[in-house]
Amino acid sequence: MQATRPTEAERFWAKVRKTDTCWIWTAANNGRKGYGVFYPAAGKIYAHRWAYVDTYGEIPSGLVVDHLCCNVRCVNPDHLEAVTNRENLMRADIGPRNAAHNRERAARRRLALA
Ligand SMILES: [Zn+2]
Repeated sequence: MQATRPTEAERFWAKVRKTDTCWIWTAANNGRKGYGVFYPAAGKIYAHRWAYVDTYGEIPSGLVVDHLCCNVRCVNPDHLEAVTNRENLMRADIGPRNAAHNRERAARRRLALA
């Protein structure tokens, strides 16, 4: 009989500490910018990208996953949005002050897609 091995998702979410707002990745990070890193069987992926794909499906090609909360260790799918690299850079300039505004915009966009 085969021992029960945790699934990839179980391994992932076991490393996440959920707060009322952000869900904090508590395992490895890439050091320089602090993005969480996850090691599924297939290799290595940013934790927030894994959470995005697990929740919403594939990231559209050419897009990056941005943190609406500007918390690089956060993996709360509600705080993640696929955007163009250009938009991501523009947001980085604006900074966390506009996080609430970004969230609102993303919510509107999701409604428009529904
Ligand atoms: Zn967050």
